[in-house]
Amino acid sequence: MVTSRTPEEARTQIINMVREFVRRDVEPIVQEYERNDVVPLELVEKMKEMGLFGITIPEEYGGMGLDYTTFAMIFEELCKGWMSISGIIGTHHIMTYVVTHYGTEEQKARFLPAMARGEKRGGLALTEPNAGSDVQAIELTATRDGEEYLVNGTKMFITNGQHGDTFALITKTDKDATPPHEGISCFIVEKGGPGFEVGRHLDKLGYRGLDTCELIFTNFRVGSDNLVGGLEGQGFQQVMAGLETGRINVAARAVGVATAAFEASIKYAQGRRTFGLPISRHQAIQLKLADMGTKIEAARLLTYKAAEKKDQGLRVDLEAGMAKLFASEMCAEVTLEAMRIFGGYGYIKENPIERYYRDAPLMIIGEGTNEIQRLVIARQLLQRYQV
Ligand SMILES: Cc1cc2nc3c(=O)[nH]c(=O)nc-3n(C[C@H](O)[C@H](O)[C@H](O)COP(=O)(O)OP(=O)(O)OC[C@H]3O[C@@H](n4cnc5c(N)ncnc54)[C@H](O)[C@@H]3O)c2cc1C
Repeated sequence: MVTSRTPEEARTQIINMVREFVRRDVEPIVQEYERNDVVPLELVEKMKEMGLFGITIPEEYGGMGLDYTTFAMIFEELCKGWMSISGIIGTHHIMTYVVTHYGTEEQKARFLPAMARGEKRGGLALTEPNAGSDVQAIELTATRDGEEYLVNGTKMFITNGQHGDTFALITKTDKDATPPHEGISCFIVEKGGPGFEVGRHLDKLGYRGLDTCELIFTNFRVGSDNLVGGLEGQGFQQVMAGLETGRINVAARAVGVATAAFEASIKYAQGRRTFGLPISRHQAIQLKLADMGTKIEAARLLTYKAAEKKDQGLRVDLEAGMAKLFASEMCAEVTLEAMRIFGGYGYIKENPIERYYRDAPLMIIGEGTNEIQRLVIARQLLQRYQV
């Protein structure tokens, strides 16, 4: 746990702690666990001990109350070691954001301290088989029945679906509302009751060693005291605000994965020799290294800028969208360039380069695809530059 009192000291202390955790506990096991798609439950326990489940939860609810720049730096460090371990706390923190900012006092007191300790592990249950980018098209319903709601429907691609136990569930409470988002409501649901089933565990290209599952609800009962903020029709706005932090987290992940690929490449380039020279002495390789290093730095700065603005309590659709778009595209480019620098050795599984390459595309797709990011960015720019 972090003990320093000034924000700068706390940031330095936690970043050093995470870096050491990655070096000591993650790097020795990542290749084997990733290949076999094993969820590293012992690392989850260590992440609990380090307080990583509470980094953004206010101190009054047992968290660390860290700022979003530190949050981004933590995700960057985790992803230098293994992107999947950042997923253990990624959607957990979107959920804690929603509860912290929109929950009732009773909901905050009931959920946040246990979530800060990692005793309750959170996730975001938004996407459905027929609704990904088009969030307003969700079909899962929550129908009022006295003091409870009956939930019916299926969620798809839910990270932490198997090992998590507490989810921000996005539902339709009014199927006929116009516009449709006014009929969307967010509930805090916990496993345990009848009618909440974990479906398929999805076999993924990358982001392995992390449970991504279907969640199936059949007449599942949730109390009206679990409706976030006690208000129907607010779920869309609540989750969109939470997803801004998700985009900062995804941008930071991309910076972390790309940095790992770059650092491996610049080291390798100075040892691997062709035509009598280290390949780092060939200009074609130098051009790659220069572009990789420059793009990573640009992505990092965009990410920190979005994080700083989020810390000021402002909406950051534009900044977080730009950071997520640029950083994720950059990561896909950099990891491919890394593979080129490694030649054939980058393509084989005993080398982490192919893992970085497989992990990169998720950041283009997740937390709003980059096509959707571009639409959001353009909408904001057109407003700002309205003639
Ligand atoms: C490994 C993994 C983990 C995930 N974890 C979670 C999670 O924890 N919780 C959760 O709720 N979801 C999660 N998701 C879901 C993810 O957020 C969605 O996959 C994503 O939002 C895209 O939705 P979709 O797959 O339905 O694609 P679609 O919405 O069907 O889009 C298909 C294609 O069409 C494009 N497109 C769609 N609409 C437009 C448009 N208007 N203009 C231009 N192009 C458009 C998209 O950009 C995309 O290229 C996860 C996904 C993956 C793969």
